[in-house]
Amino acid sequence: MTTPLAREDLAALLKWYADSGLDEAIGEIPVDRFAPPTPPTTTIVSAAAPAAAQRTVGQAVPRSPSSPARAPVPIESPQLVEDARQLARNCTSIAELEAAIRGFEGCALKRTAKNTVFADGVPGAPVMVVGEAPGADEDRLGKPFVGVSGQLMDRMFEAIGMSRERDLYVTNILFWRPPGNRTPTLAEQAVCMAFTRRHIELARPKVLVLAGGTAAKSVLDTTEGIMRLRGKWTTLALDDGSAVPTLPTFHPAYLLRTPASKRQSWSDLLSLDKKLRELGIR
Ligand code: URA
Repeated sequence: MTTPLAREDLAALLKWYADSGLDEAIGEIPVDRFAPPTPPTTTIVSAAAPAAAQRTVGQAVPRSPSSPARAPVPIESPQLVEDARQLARNCTSIAELEAAIRGFEGCALKRTAKNTVFADGVPGAPVMVVGEAPGADEDRLGKPFVGVSGQLMDRMFEAIGMSRERDLYVTNILFWRPPGNRTPTLAEQAVCMAFTRRHIELARPKVLVLAGGTAAKSVLDTTEGIMRLRGKWTTLALDDGSAVPTLPTFHPAYLLRTPASKRQSWSDLLSLDKKLRELGIR
């Protein structure tokens, strides 16, 4: 038998959770993950139970108010990735894609996020920047890269005479904030990437900049780390047959933690400036 915690102990526990990055509740009922697994139920086919007869062993059963809490089932699956791809393929404009993403329920991150964070800047701008995922500020305001790392990113582009209002289109590989800013799972990335690839096709940037290792690995579909990828131009081939020159670079949040790496990012920015001039864009 456990004794209820005193108010101050509860407050201390909540503070400890928040300090550890656990700042979202994802369910109403606690789940005991150390409990022994319950044996799978077998299908009973009977005329009296037509709904149950449609289900197979181990398949999710609709929750009745009295049924015990289940561990949340991950909802990303190969079928959901295919659904996302199909939805994205059917979109013929950025506005349609945004509406499709806002209406999409196949990514569990949406359940804990306050907002869908789609894009900022100028759709169709010569440079499209793709980051990782919204953080707390982006989640609150519904726009990508508006927190401290976004402000650093803006200042960096300003240093080569580019602004979000005129020259940049900014988005992330994920449209919803992962709780506590954890790294998105591969399943979450796969579902959102179906939309992001179409986003790049529809935005038709002259040049793509990938901010940080997670975005670079996901978009380029590689296991190579950002330390090796950054500063090296590559070509991203898209499903509609188009191709876009692509530059992976450090994430601004990494630069805030490791200011000495700004020197390499400056060299990446100069390389971007040079590429744009070669393409006759500046
Ligand atoms: N980090 C990102 O990768 N994207 C944002 O929008 C904010 C922080």
